[in-house]
Amino acid sequence: MTIKDQIKSLQEELRQHNYNYYVLDNPTISDYEFDMKLKQLQELEAKHPEFADANSPTQRVGGAITKNFETVKHEHRMYSLDNSYSKEDLLDWETRLKKMIDGPIQFTCELKYDGASISLTYENGSLLRAVTRGDGVQGDDVTANVKTIKSVPLQLKGDYPTKFDIRGEIVLPFEGFNKMNEEREEIGEELYRNPRNTASGSLKLQDSAEVAKRPLECLLYNITGSNLGIKTQFESLEKARAWGFKVPNAAKLANSIDEVLEFVEYWDVKRHDLPYETDGVVVKVNSLQHQDELGYTAKAPRWAMAYKFKAEQVSTVLLEITYQVGRTGAITPVANLEPVELAGTTVKRASLHNADQIEKLDIREGDTVFVEKGGEIIPKIITVDLSQRPSNSTPTQYITHCPECETELIRQVGEAQHYCPNYNGCKPQIIGRIQHFISRKAMDIDGLGGETVALLVNAGLISNYSDLYELKREDILPLERMAEKSAENLINGIELSKAVPFERVLFALGIRYVGETVAKKLAKHYKNIDSLIATTPEALVSVDEIGERIAESVTAFFTSKENLEIISKLKHFGLQMSLSEEQLANQTDKLVGKTFVVSGVFQSVSRNELKKLIEDNGGKVSASISSKTSFVVAGDNMGPSKRDKAEKLGIPIITEQDFLDMII
Ligand code: AMP
Ligand code: ZN
Repeated sequence: MTIKDQIKSLQEELRQHNYNYYVLDNPTISDYEFDMKLKQLQELEAKHPEFADANSPTQRVGGAITKNFETVKHEHRMYSLDNSYSKEDLLDWETRLKKMIDGPIQFTCELKYDGASISLTYENGSLLRAVTRGDGVQGDDVTANVKTIKSVPLQLKGDYPTKFDIRGEIVLPFEGFNKMNEEREEIGEELYRNPRNTASGSLKLQDSAEVAKRPLECLLYNITGSNLGIKTQFESLEKARAWGFKVPNAAKLANSIDEVLEFVEYWDVKRHDLPYETDGVVVKVNSLQHQDELGYTAKAPRWAMAYKFKAEQVSTVLLEITYQVGRTGAITPVANLEPVELAGTTVKRASLHNADQIEKLDIREGDTVFVEKGGEIIPKIITVDLSQRPSNSTPTQYITHCPECETELIRQVGEAQHYCPNYNGCKPQIIGRIQHFISRKAMDIDGLGGETVALLVNAGLISNYSDLYELKREDILPLERMAEKSAENLINGIELSKAVPFERVLFALGIRYVGETVAKKLAKHYKNIDSLIATTPEALVSVDEIGERIAESVTAFFTSKENLEIISKLKHFGLQMSLSEEQLANQTDKLVGKTFVVSGVFQSVSRNELKKLIEDNGGKVSASISSKTSFVVAGDNMGPSKRDKAEKLGIPIITEQDFLDMII
């Protein structure tokens, strides 16, 4: 087999596995095998860039940065939908239809997915463009981001038309949404409110590699174009499915409004079992010929109608508002409710988010409130039933002092959350910080769990994470339920954690906004804790991906005398406070202060390897050419507009070999 065929066949195979996994939910090989094959393809493509393909499965990981999303006019307008809320509304609609259409009318019933609408353009079976709905006439070109969504086929199969648009909804399934929030919690960031906003926010991220990490899905429901040879909506769903799109199987043909209503009733209950959010049903006149005759109003097609589910709501009494203190000192108000059954679970608590939310709802203890459950773990309070408000009720006064340590709370301008600033003396902060320190992605201390940490703190045995390294067997044996064996495991686990690499130690310190990725960047750039401590906010923001907010937080952390003492102890106990020899071996400072733009395809290294070489040698990689660019490394097929720009700005364009000579 020639190299070209080998690449083609691997691409083909991986495409099929992607399809099995993300569209059919039915993988036929292990993740490991998949990764191996993907790696093999990556290597082949890197070695033979002449066969690279913008729609290869290797392009799913993202990396392209979009600073400004280009506005694109939709070739066919993206309409809104008329809404209905009752059987009567639907019957009225049918009556209107019958005045305009002769003979029986068939309907396609679909679920109304709650996410961000998207229009995908395909030409010759390849994804050409992805554009948001925008105002319906024009939207934003988000192609680079959408390409990372695995259920969006980059290359179609079967008998597809040469050119068409297909519309769908990008959703974030509950499971992925909840996982993203767990990670947010870990770095002390405010949680995402709901999957829908998070999905549409994701499409507008500048870094497509970030989008690639989000478990988004794309569900399709409408094909537009001319001469497609399709006669009905239902057929178009089947076709789309056959070409490789993810089209949920819930769609059903109905021969009357009664059958439509059956569909509505069924899904009103069953939707709670779906992995993503739906807010209704969309009923469409099935025949495209009929659709043509019916046409559009100024805002929506006459041939379609959305039926909105009533979100499942119950009313209950708000007993008390309590306040939780998180690891970073963030205060979260919690509504403690009279327990009530809702969508199959007993609800006792709901988050009130922050002071603004309480004020907006004007919610008070003793109020009767309506609670709704979306897909999130925590249900939300929608409104207060004012008719039930007790006559002696008074507005909620948000707390001014920490419920745990009585310190006066602060609230920074522009922030929604109140904070307890008593960093070193507030119990939940102390415990939370140590729990974060020992967690799996941080120091991963075997034999020590979150509850034991609380026990140790409450017993006065530890008050910060450096104290862990001074614990002795005999200190902890007297603790409740601490057997000889567990004490030993605990001490061993702590000892072993001394080998955990620097970047994870940095993450474990629990600096606000410093998650795993940022910790890695910082470790790589500064190489050891001392140079990180010595740095300035200005220097920090010049590091790739470090913004002002992170820079300020990092500097504040290392300005604290207490923190510096703790760090010096950790160092003394033998924790890894710098990159290992091995990590350092490949790194130099040869390119410090230089910014590179990489363009085109290369012969001896892949683009990613090239970028890594730049970073390993202290340089910075940027996506677009500006006056700050030091060099453009040009491979084959460098874009003409990039070349123009570089020439205009007088930025040297160098070859791959020139670059490699720089770092020898
Ligand atoms: P609305 O935003 O309430 O006007 O509702 C219209 C939107 O519903 C469309 O723009 C689509 O993004 C979305 N939608 C979700 N599921 C479907 C579906 N099965 N068919 C048509 N539109 C849908
Ligand atoms: Zn406090």
